[in-house]
Amino acid sequence: HKGAFFQMTDETFIRSIYKKRTSFSHKGNFGHALLMAGSYGKMGAAVMAAKACLRSGVGLLTVHLPKCGVDIMQTSTHEAMVSIDKDEHCIISIPDDISKYNVIGVGPGIGLENETKSLLPAILQLKKPLVIDADALNIIAENKALLQQLPAQTILTPHPKEFDRLFGESPNDFVRMEKAQHAASKHNCVIVLKGHNTFMAAPGAKGFFNNTGNPGMATGGSGDVLTGIITGLLAQKYSALNAAILGVYLHGLSADMALQFNSFETLLPSDIIKYLYRGFK
Ligand code: AMP
Ligand code: MG
Repeated sequence: HKGAFFQMTDETFIRSIYKKRTSFSHKGNFGHALLMAGSYGKMGAAVMAAKACLRSGVGLLTVHLPKCGVDIMQTSTHEAMVSIDKDEHCIISIPDDISKYNVIGVGPGIGLENETKSLLPAILQLKKPLVIDADALNIIAENKALLQQLPAQTILTPHPKEFDRLFGESPNDFVRMEKAQHAASKHNCVIVLKGHNTFMAAPGAKGFFNNTGNPGMATGGSGDVLTGIITGLLAQKYSALNAAILGVYLHGLSADMALQFNSFETLLPSDIIKYLYRGFK
């Protein structure tokens, strides 16, 4: 209602923030995203995030990977370029020539090796807009001082367990949402608290609830797809809050569209990527 402190994102609102392409668009208009993802045994997370990012309209995508992931990415995802870490099994270094990337998505499948943990402060110091997910959030939770160093236009995408590791346990979802709003203001970032009716908080803004998505998404990999989508939108110069709102909406809507030929049980995160075109349309 008027003056409400929360808003449900509906189709009208989504249409109002969606940026139409002009006929003269070229890939330089849509950003060059860097995804830092994957480790030995978790390359699927990197592949799903990369494919989702590509299907979200990014101009160019480079994925920074450990050596063991290069063939996997290059044979599965032809549109992505790769940047190759010096380590065989996990990412421990910043890519060369970092200035060409306008946003970074970090976290899917990176694991918790000590050298990967040491890399995170260096990523924050690059001062690029960031999407921070999964083990990158868990690494920050172990060293909470890093929350003071988030670059402008940063988006955190925790599920409730990751959120509680970062900001302490909450007795219920209402308290967790209040904490999300407080933390978003304190650390000047957007927080995407994932679940059924994902809640989004940003400094000085209303809270937003999402109403797309379904229990078929409750399977490993759905969050990696979301990270790819939001990273792709942020690269296209959506504000952090609008990238989060639009990304979460499209992620859920595409999963809902995929139910035409799937049950909750059979739906896979790759199907969300496959049906992204219907979400966008
Ligand atoms: P993660 O736990 O990181 O894999 O993220 C899971 C993703 O799937 C988040 O974007 C959730 O919002 C979404 N998701 C999981 N379960 C549901 C559900 N029951 N209804 C709507 N979305 C869901
Ligand atoms: Mg996740």
